Amino acid sequence: MSTVRRRRLQNSSSVPPEDCIFCRIVGRKAASYPVYEDEHYIAFLDIAPFARGHTLVCPKKHGETIWDMNEMETAELFRVASKVSKAVVNAVDADGFRFVQNNGEAANQVVAHVHVHVIPVKMEDKGRFTGRKSFTPSEMESTARTIREGLSSLSRSDK
Ligand SMILES: [Zn+2]
Repeated sequence: MSTVRRRRLQNSSSVPPEDCIFCRIVGRKAASYPVYEDEHYIAFLDIAPFARGHTLVCPKKHGETIWDMNEMETAELFRVASKVSKAVVNAVDADGFRFVQNNGEAANQVVAHVHVHVIPVKMEDKGRFTGRKSFTPSEMESTARTIREGLSSLSRSDK
């Protein structure tokens, strides 16, 4: 019998769900700039974005890494991320986007709750690492609103 053992990834930011910032956002105990929500997934702006529109897509159920999700949940997470990416790219008039999904401290995972970064990229930033940016609360709210509106028109055109 083969025994492929799954090692546990080190995560210095491991916390119980009640102390997890993303679980607190899911439970509306912490503020965020939400852009999308369904029964199992939620998306909101990253508060230290690499670009305007940088969004995080998370399962509502707490799990530290992608290994804590089953394959269907992982597929669904990326289905939602793909949908969100279209509204993000439209909202900020980007020319491309990145999905970044970090697992474990060694991979620079900062919050130990599974999330996919959706990072829009403009052609002028091609090949450049732009660093964290800062936007005012009203800029963040306006970006989130534009993405939300884009998502609702996307879901209308899906029908
Ligand atoms: Zn959590």
